[in-house]
Amino acid sequence: MAVSKNQKVDIIKQSILSGIQEFGENYIQEAILKIQKFKKYKHITWHFIGKIQSNKTKLVAKNFDWCQTVDREKIVFLLNKYRPKNLLPINVLIQINISKEPKKNGIDITEYQTLAKIISSMPNINLRGIMAMPKITKNIVNTNLQYQIIKKTFHQLKQQYTSVDTLSLGTSFDIENSLLNDSNMIRIGRNIFN
Ligand SMILES: *Cc1c(COP(=O)(O)O)cnc(C)c1O
Repeated sequence: MAVSKNQKVDIIKQSILSGIQEFGENYIQEAILKIQKFKKYKHITWHFIGKIQSNKTKLVAKNFDWCQTVDREKIVFLLNKYRPKNLLPINVLIQINISKEPKKNGIDITEYQTLAKIISSMPNINLRGIMAMPKITKNIVNTNLQYQIIKKTFHQLKQQYTSVDTLSLGTSFDIENSLLNDSNMIRIGRNIFN
């Protein structure tokens, strides 16, 4: 998936014309302008990958195909409530805070199961898997451990829910490690656009 935050519409248009079909955006207002602009390209999928605020959740529900940063119950209820009935259920990933940095977004690994259960009971939301952003440190053992835990968590969730098929793991910095740990959706910004 191409992370197109901060990219201008003419650059995005070029990437659409060159075959990119999945786009990730972080900032809701900026994203909605782009989504409107490219509405005629029906094959494009838009992913919300930014920090999600409850007062913006309605806009995410109305405009995006996926929300990858679901990390609390309140957001689940709002997405379900505001997803327009004429659209397919919104696809969601549970964001797990694997690096355990207190300020990072994402739910603690000990709590994601409860959230998965709630999501799977909602008619207007489709649970597709897990999103994570490991912290890359000089301590290789610690870094690798984060990837392995996410991989294991993904396979567990996949066994529990038939709708689960996506592990969104990896940015321009850790493509290889992510793919080696069963990621099947990588979120690439600077390696595409810079
Ligand atoms: C910006 C961003 C990316 C892309 O990072 P790059 O280093 O530009 O590849 C991936 N995931 C999230 C959540 C982001 O905010």
